[in-house]
Amino acid sequence: MEKCEDIVVVGGGVAGLATALALHRVGLRSLVLERADCLRTAGAAFMMWPNAWKALDALGVSDSLRPFYSQLDGIRGSSICTGVCKNVPLKSGGKGDSSMKLESRCIERMALLEALAKELPVGSIRFNSKIVSLHRDTISPFTTLELADGRSLTAKIVIGCDGVYSVIARWMGLPPPKTTGRIAIRGMVTYTEDHHFEKLMLQVWGKGVKAGFITCTDKKVYWFVTRRSHPQDAEICGDAERVMHAALEMVRDFPEPIAELIKSSPVETINMADLKVRWVWPWEWGRGVEKGKGSVTIVGDALHPMMPDLAQGACMALEDAVHLSRCLEQVIKSVNMADWGKAQAEKIETCFNKYLQERRWRVSGIVSVAFVMGFVQEGSSRLERFVRDWIFFPLFSMRYLLYFVHS
Ligand SMILES: Cc1cc2nc3c(=O)[nH]c(=O)nc-3n(C[C@H](O)[C@H](O)[C@H](O)COP(=O)(O)OP(=O)(O)OC[C@H]3O[C@@H](n4cnc5c(N)ncnc54)[C@H](O)[C@@H]3O)c2cc1C
Repeated sequence: MEKCEDIVVVGGGVAGLATALALHRVGLRSLVLERADCLRTAGAAFMMWPNAWKALDALGVSDSLRPFYSQLDGIRGSSICTGVCKNVPLKSGGKGDSSMKLESRCIERMALLEALAKELPVGSIRFNSKIVSLHRDTISPFTTLELADGRSLTAKIVIGCDGVYSVIARWMGLPPPKTTGRIAIRGMVTYTEDHHFEKLMLQVWGKGVKAGFITCTDKKVYWFVTRRSHPQDAEICGDAERVMHAALEMVRDFPEPIAELIKSSPVETINMADLKVRWVWPWEWGRGVEKGKGSVTIVGDALHPMMPDLAQGACMALEDAVHLSRCLEQVIKSVNMADWGKAQAEKIETCFNKYLQERRWRVSGIVSVAFVMGFVQEGSSRLERFVRDWIFFPLFSMRYLLYFVHS
């Protein structure tokens, strides 16, 4: 058994690194345990909306990312089934222009992880450290974490940032994530010269398929394709060549340049994900999520796996991290970490309950809207496509959804 750590963060993805950095910014040191042997690149890039930029500002890393990634001018959505087309400007065009000024950039996953990791004190991240279980008996204020290689570690505070299949969430009694019956394939193209695409998020809806692309920088373009799952998806999931062919098949009827982007992507940037969601209604959080689990909590996908259709998973993980660190900052002043006991653990537990209570409505709202968006956008039957193109678009244009995300 190693020495007892004050704060252990399980998982070194966006949520884990942002949480460790947010804690560092308020003067709290933590140890990040990551199962992989380096920072994970799968997923290529993320859309970062204004809520994410606010969080990145608070974390003090936005200036190292902002200059390198293009501010999008707008979102363009169109249907190849009916020809319906929607444009949502994201930048104000000047006096009298009612369009929103929403900071929105698509940034590479690795750049975000590196920007967060670079700001952490040396030795904060321990790779090759996969947590397989944790234990805590009711009278002890300490949590023991068991690692896959047989080591174990004791911690006063544990923050689970270990993604969709979180060991910590399972231990806290959350139901396992459920498949949504949808998959997403994404990848990235890097050009040697300027690509000359407009600075847009472009989405095209077809029969049961959604595809599109986003300009990251003048030379980089991120693309995505989603549809409902097929039984053979599990077989091809780990084979990037076959995943690329599946993506090309999905966009057969789609306008260029989507197929061209897919063909031009190095296979190592291509990734397929089975989309998961976990429904924990806000009024259920008191029963499952935060009852009597001591000084242990969860952040990011571990807490709220969601559909990617609002592009909010990582944005919400950043929000969680900043929110949690602010809650902890207030309470930790009255906790003597050197003299850790039951009373101290109870104060942290109360603080974690407060964090979860304060996050639950926003998180549940975003998870629900993302679910509806995904379901509606991939309509394949005639009725579903009619609802999507003639009712959903005009009534709930992306502009209102973005206001919701922004709030
Ligand atoms: C197709 C798709 C597109 C998306 N697009 C966007 C977007 O545009 N914008 C956006 O904001 N979000 C987007 N998301 C969501 C985003 O990818 C996730 O919400 C985000 O990555 C969650 O971060 P996380 O750190 O919680 O989890 P993860 O990124 O999964 O990180 C978890 C980390 O924990 C580690 N880990 C796991 N288990 C253990 C263990 N037992 N012990 C130690 N370490 C462990 C993993 O190796 C990993 O490094 C998208 C998701 C998908 C699937």
